[in-house]
Amino acid sequence: MPTPADADARRAIAPVICYPNDTLPVPDLALYRAARQGAEKTGEVLVPPRDASVFRVPAGHVFRISSVEGPQVGDLNLWNAHDLSERFYSGKARALHGTHLTTGERMWSSFPHLRPMATIIEDTLEWYGIDQYGGSVHDVIGTRCDPYTGNLLSGTQYHHCCHSNLTRALADEMGMTLAEAEPHVHDVLNVFMCTGFTRDTGQYFMKASPVRPGDHLEFFAEIDLLGALSACPGGDCSSEHSSDSAACHPLLVEIFAPQADALAGWTPPPVNGYDRSHGR
Ligand SMILES: [Zn+2]
Repeated sequence: MPTPADADARRAIAPVICYPNDTLPVPDLALYRAARQGAEKTGEVLVPPRDASVFRVPAGHVFRISSVEGPQVGDLNLWNAHDLSERFYSGKARALHGTHLTTGERMWSSFPHLRPMATIIEDTLEWYGIDQYGGSVHDVIGTRCDPYTGNLLSGTQYHHCCHSNLTRALADEMGMTLAEAEPHVHDVLNVFMCTGFTRDTGQYFMKASPVRPGDHLEFFAEIDLLGALSACPGGDCSSEHSSDSAACHPLLVEIFAPQADALAGWTPPPVNGYDRSHGR
């Protein structure tokens, strides 16, 4: 198609932020961190490489995801522990916070709930920022690696993509068949994954994660949560995923309970206030 005469002028128009987030409710990080300081560990789960595990976190408790043996990325799903239809909405988290999440940012839930499910209170990779390629850590721009895309692109039947790992883990936890569990699996927070979009072609890219053993992300649970974490078959995602070729490591999830009076006056956030009449 012909390029219009004013193409450069149109391209030069400055962008406008879609969702200015200065009116978002601000999490009380001081309160959350104070509660975290006196909290006691109540449980842990070690997620095996190329597999997923579930965990439960009561509202007001904290969970930590740690790299333990070597660089490894994880695919995180969250549900309301009492209603699987309320689940993490990565697209809206992206629209509100940007392509990657860090301290003070939140995992928001799906419609009609649209409320914070978890708030990041500590991120040891916050220093990474945005690199020269436009890459950053903990993205909400990828989906989750899955066997359907592998089959589409190269005809493979690979069974340990994060989508399948999460499906098996949820099915086992809920006593569901795989077919029942699969529709509940959703797009993830890519924990520790370093990703971006190429400037020239706009393609989704990954690169070796800067995560090292000891690095962690800590979340304050805003509501009662069921979580599932997959230790991605991509390992540190420096080369490929959707196969058994990458070096993979476990991920550690730990749960911490605050002291009884540490959250005095705090309550889980209500569901979204839209009246749902949709113009009728
Ligand atoms: Zn994966």
